[in-house]
Amino acid sequence: MRIALKDFTKKFDGVPVIDRMNLEIRDGEMLALLGPSGCGKSTTLLAISGIHRIDGGQILFGDDDISGLPSQKRNVGVVFQNYALYPHMTAFENIAFPLQVRRTEKKEIEARVQEIAELTHIAPYLKRKPGQLSGGQQQRVALARALVRKPGVLLLDEPLANLDAALRLEMRSEIRRIQLETGITAILVTHDQVEAMSMADRIAIMDKGEILQVSPPDEMYRRPTNRFVASFMGNPP
Ligand code: ADP
Ligand code: MG
Repeated sequence: MRIALKDFTKKFDGVPVIDRMNLEIRDGEMLALLGPSGCGKSTTLLAISGIHRIDGGQILFGDDDISGLPSQKRNVGVVFQNYALYPHMTAFENIAFPLQVRRTEKKEIEARVQEIAELTHIAPYLKRKPGQLSGGQQQRVALARALVRKPGVLLLDEPLANLDAALRLEMRSEIRRIQLETGITAILVTHDQVEAMSMADRIAIMDKGEILQVSPPDEMYRRPTNRFVASFMGNPP
């Protein structure tokens, strides 16, 4: 699903943190929203997911402005840095939860959870609770839960930040594999240049609430259009 932010504005206490941002995410691509801490990445994701209301502009999914819709009606799956799994529920129950609140039939829930658990390689562990799973496995559960309703959009907010270096490498390619296999349109929020370079089709560089450049990874590195992008990508003039 194509996503477009048009003059997207978000204020906190009357002060704009994001002032008329424009950005387009192509159908089926993984776009990395890359920038330093505090530049407004999470705020942008929270607005797209509907957790934050916006103070101006539009958020389009396809041709529809969805900025007035509540979160549950937006057809998005979200994975946060801390995964936010329910600790007292098994992996199965965590993944099934978004279907259960919609009163889906039991048989259908089981089939769908099994299908998504196979895709995310968590099927052998469905009876375990989060505390009995490794960090990588917990993340797979969070991904499965985000995808179980077959949303059109997957939003990932620093999904690898809590993993150790080896797991981070593994989950980089796993998240990318899952995104490619489902063909879902995804936004990856990260402050890590290497992560963005290795996972995304295109990178949008953000600083102080503004998008400075949107390019494929190699171009972002080789042809930065301004000094901030160049130095942030580690290729200063
Ligand atoms: P990032 O995810 O890029 O690190 P954020 O989107 O979390 O940045 O924050 C962008 C700016 O908005 C920061 O200056 C932050 O302090 C401010 N901010 C974020 N959330 C709130 C909030 N709920 N209330 C007030 N200010 C906020
Ligand atoms: Mg953030």
